[in-house]
Amino acid sequence: MNSSEFINLLRENGVVGGGGGSFPTYKKFSFNNLDTLIINGVECEPLLYSDYFLVKERFEEIIFTLQRLQEIFNFRDIFFTLKKKRLELADFLRKKDIENIKNLKFYLFEDIYPAGDEQIIIKAIKGITLPSFKLPGDYGIVVLNLQTLVFISEAIRGKPAIRRFVTVSGLVKNPLVFDVPIGTKIKDLIDISGGYLVDNPVIFAGGVMMGGIIGESFSIKKGTTGIIVIAGDSKLMVEKKTSADIFSKKARSVCDGCMECTLFCSRNLIGKKIRPHLIMRYSEDYLSGRRSIPSEVFNCSECGLCYVYSCPLGLSPRKVIKSLKEKSKRDVVEDFDESENFLFKIPPSYKIKKRLEIEDVKPNFHGVYNPSIISVDIKQSKGFSPKPIVKDGEFVLTGEKICKMSQNKLGVPLHSPVTGKIVYIDGQKIKIEASD
Ligand code: SF4
Ligand code: SF4
Repeated sequence: MNSSEFINLLRENGVVGGGGGSFPTYKKFSFNNLDTLIINGVECEPLLYSDYFLVKERFEEIIFTLQRLQEIFNFRDIFFTLKKKRLELADFLRKKDIENIKNLKFYLFEDIYPAGDEQIIIKAIKGITLPSFKLPGDYGIVVLNLQTLVFISEAIRGKPAIRRFVTVSGLVKNPLVFDVPIGTKIKDLIDISGGYLVDNPVIFAGGVMMGGIIGESFSIKKGTTGIIVIAGDSKLMVEKKTSADIFSKKARSVCDGCMECTLFCSRNLIGKKIRPHLIMRYSEDYLSGRRSIPSEVFNCSECGLCYVYSCPLGLSPRKVIKSLKEKSKRDVVEDFDESENFLFKIPPSYKIKKRLEIEDVKPNFHGVYNPSIISVDIKQSKGFSPKPIVKDGEFVLTGEKICKMSQNKLGVPLHSPVTGKIVYIDGQKIKIEASD
């Protein structure tokens, strides 16, 4: 198989980033001179264990995909990143002969947050601060998460991306990791995990640091790494319930310009121009339109360190910056270039968990769960939504295409995760009653 056949295979089989970004994966390979492959196995959001169990349960697919990728692209380097605290996974994969793959080596991170940020990984391994509007591919780099590798392994075998691993953790009785079809309702998974431990639960999709709040009707998407339950009165909820305007007004009266938010800003530490303390100082002017919004807001990854870890006064530069991004147009930002030894300054994960008052319980692996009805979101990835090609009442097979994507648009088609009957369809969702 050559690279263009491979790219076509990824597109046709609906492969997108499985680590939360949901960027169509075929685009990552559409660059000339790719020489470095980085596997992002860092899984730095607290409480997530989907990648951990993917290595344990899907090592054959992971190794198979890496072998095929090396045959097609002949990478000069393959870096398999993990956290040092999960060294056992590197030993496990070594026993499965992963190091027979040409040019593959492990790269281990301390247990720091947000080590899984693609830009931090690239800076740590390659020493490159990615400029605005540039993608890793512009520097010959492809970064893939472990779930994406499993999606690719299915695609190489001619099967679409229709199932994934998902962690259900936080304030549930028995944290579990599931292997589920896309479209599985999270309420099913929470019930199997024993239900809530609190009477004011709030559910996050992804992780607590960077994920968003969802309702019980949410269904698993290709990029849903985890479902984390927290209490409605936790520190994170204060940020969620407080508007950017209120944080901005509070900053006027209490922010003393201590710069903690800038000194520990994960993107500032890798040389990106982003100075949250200055943004907070002028935030009322930016929000009201009296000053134009600085383009550096687009360098913020919304990692949440400034709120959860840095600011002694409980202000959230992240919330303000997010609001400023929504009001502004993306523009080129000049970056700093001094960022020596930045990894030593990124806070350890245990401090993040302490601030959030969450306990890291290792879940058990539940294995395969097949619900009787699923609800598949038509928009699963970055780019354009595919168009449905099925009707209410129609019978579909597992893996059959149910939404198509036109060739000249960024996006991927969608396939049925189960065999069954379509019982509802609109512009956003397709519900399928499984018959097996
Ligand atoms: S959320 Fe805060 S710490 Fe994270 S990149 Fe944005 S400004 Fe920096
Ligand atoms: S850490 Fe808080 S108080 Fe200090 S400059 Fe940043 S927003 Fe202001």
